[in-house]
Amino acid sequence: MRAHNFSAGPAMLPLAVLERARDELLDWGGSGMSVMEVSHRGKAFVAAAEATQAALRALMGIPEEYAVLFLQGGAMGEFAAIPMNLTAPGDSIDFLLTGDWGVKAAAEAEKYAGVRVVADESADHFVRAPREGSFTVSPDAAYLHYTPNETIRGVEFGYVPDAGPVPLVADMSSTILSRPVDVSRFGVIYAGAQKNMGPSGLVVVVVRRDLLGRARPQTPTVWDFTVQAGADSMVNTPPTFGIYLLGLVLDWITDQGGLLGMAERNRAKADALYGFIDASGFYSNPVDRDARSWMNVPFLLADPSLDATFVARAADAGLTNLAGHRSVGGMRASIYNAMPLEGVRALVDFMAEFERTHG
Ligand SMILES: *Cc1c(COP(=O)(O)O)cnc(C)c1O
Repeated sequence: MRAHNFSAGPAMLPLAVLERARDELLDWGGSGMSVMEVSHRGKAFVAAAEATQAALRALMGIPEEYAVLFLQGGAMGEFAAIPMNLTAPGDSIDFLLTGDWGVKAAAEAEKYAGVRVVADESADHFVRAPREGSFTVSPDAAYLHYTPNETIRGVEFGYVPDAGPVPLVADMSSTILSRPVDVSRFGVIYAGAQKNMGPSGLVVVVVRRDLLGRARPQTPTVWDFTVQAGADSMVNTPPTFGIYLLGLVLDWITDQGGLLGMAERNRAKADALYGFIDASGFYSNPVDRDARSWMNVPFLLADPSLDATFVARAADAGLTNLAGHRSVGGMRASIYNAMPLEGVRALVDFMAEFERTHG
């Protein structure tokens, strides 16, 4: 039996995607080989990679003036690659800090450029997004970086920050494809695949083409956006299995009604879980209501000495990976695109039963 897997990442994948990958594993498209065993420069794989890019463009509405790159090194690799590609020595970058990943991104960027923190929600342990219009972007910033969904503490922006003429750069690792987004508002969107797009090992970068051509000379060739954009992300061997699986995930999302369908489904899941938590006197979520993540739902038990019992009983009931991030404690249920509403209902039923027997 498949578990209800609430892992923050690598996260669960849609069952239909895994079944299709299984069915195609030994003989991909009549090649007599698995997709992992074919040349990335062969006709069949090149066509598959092009189809995956086209599907991503269609689903997200990515305009022609953006390049789509399939790279490696994860989102953390991009913490370095983006300043290498977008800044010159002496430049400064503006950051909005709403959680742990933004802090990490800023620390990495500081190796390459100045960092100005224009909004910092750390004083209250990251429980909200800054109010729209409450911060000022420096007109001379190379870009404004933010994390639309902070995976660890479950803080999600309900709006796209206005950076004016300054390019907006977003780490969408844990929110990409969860709802529609106006790509034209962004200079760069990047996301590790292992939350909402496929297996780990692939990172997707969407970059406005007018930002190309400024990489520092020391930038590793495989991370040089301009070079990769000119080579269809095939400067070297790309993460072929990840690109293939992303294609299957995108087909699945299309079957579910695209990003509007995903948003509807994700809103229903989040409403069910937060609604239950708020109505309970035993569980709590500290995040401001208008900044609560649709994807990652941290919650605390009224009696933290029950945490280990909760995690163990939940696992017995087939609900796995509910322990909160090691830096935060408590619980966290990650309910990405692939998590069905039934999985959230099973969690809510378990939580209610646990409260009855232990609360
Ligand atoms: C998971 C995550 C990362 C780290 O991604 P890697 O691919 O492991 O480098 C960075 N940012 C956010 C928002 C994440 O959720």
